[in-house]
Amino acid sequence: MSEQTQERAGILITDLKEIATMAGPPEGPLHGGALGDLEIVQDAAIAIGGGEILAVGPTQDLRERFRASTVVDATGMVATPGLVDPHTHMVYAGSREDEFEERVKGATYLQIASSGGGILSTVRETRKASMNRIVRQSLPRLQRALRHGTTTMEIKSGYGLDADSEEKMLAAIDYLRRLQPIDLVSTFMGAHWLPEEFTNNREGYIRDVIRKQIPRARSMAEFCDVFCEEGVFSPDETREILAAAKDSGMKLKIHADEFKDTGGAALAGSLKAASADHLGAIGPEGIKALRGKGTIAVLLPGTSFYIGLGRYAPARALIEAGVPVALGSDGNPGSCVTDSMQVILSLACLRLRMTPHEALASATRNAAWAIDRGKEAGILEEGRPADVVVWAAPSCKAIPHQFGTNLVHQVYKKGVLVHEEGA
Ligand SMILES: [Zn+2]
Repeated sequence: MSEQTQERAGILITDLKEIATMAGPPEGPLHGGALGDLEIVQDAAIAIGGGEILAVGPTQDLRERFRASTVVDATGMVATPGLVDPHTHMVYAGSREDEFEERVKGATYLQIASSGGGILSTVRETRKASMNRIVRQSLPRLQRALRHGTTTMEIKSGYGLDADSEEKMLAAIDYLRRLQPIDLVSTFMGAHWLPEEFTNNREGYIRDVIRKQIPRARSMAEFCDVFCEEGVFSPDETREILAAAKDSGMKLKIHADEFKDTGGAALAGSLKAASADHLGAIGPEGIKALRGKGTIAVLLPGTSFYIGLGRYAPARALIEAGVPVALGSDGNPGSCVTDSMQVILSLACLRLRMTPHEALASATRNAAWAIDRGKEAGILEEGRPADVVVWAAPSCKAIPHQFGTNLVHQVYKKGVLVHEEGA
């Protein structure tokens, strides 16, 4: 093809050893055997223009087809879609490393809570802080996540626990959209914990969430999430709160069956929630209830690892049952302090017994569906936003193989190079 007949591209990334595109029918999240059976293009290139993927294919074909303003030689590297983190609590004030030290020395959760630590200490700090201070403290977490390959992220409120403070958290998430390139998806989580002032008045707090918080949050949050767990919110309370959220136009998520099987996953299935998250204690009934409902099982192995539970979600049973599985960081100030989805990929392989390809699909295509971004994020194919990670790794399988090291070489968000190793 002569130069005149070539198509124009902004960027051509060439000579990649392989690209895991995550593409392929049918539309929707991958499940069962398809989760690990990825479309891999060898000796591959990606053409980008106008913020979108123009083509993915063999380097030789794309070199002939496109004339690019910038050619990026990625010899020996691999590419995947930008990682999607569908479950985080990244926006908060304060830091709990003192409590971490106490825990390492053997303090129990109750001892930490009774000395003023735990989630309620983050609630106190977040209530005290201005929106600007929350933004200032949260921005570096998002910047680190980007450098580790995350290009789309869900963030929950839930450290305010009153209408004003929850609104302030959602406003902080909104403001962070303007300060950095990761696409952010907001979730309202007033029912994250019972605040101190309602200790003896559970019913009063549920009324506060339904009558005061949800009406204020509805225009700022796309999803509503509830911590359905023994000692936190019961399935009946969860159902009541989520019914109000649904009436307000929010989509639904549940922190379900993390420590005890209280029927949270079954509830998520019956409500056709977008996702049921954690699932460390899900039983056979819960797994059955999630089949064929469109509800995604978002697994968070970082939390099980970090709090030393010794028990992990039954990923293999969920995959074998045909439930679509996604991975999230659960990045938060107490029970999983990380910004890196790469660590989660390794833990998914080592502790959930997922294959490297299953883990990658769960942290891209399936994670995008868990936050209703399946049509935009998580797949590299023509016409989609060019959210691409180039990895300094010899194969896609090598990404989770290495533990605790950042293998990201470049990150592109909507076709713009937003991070480069060493730059
Ligand atoms: Zn969570």
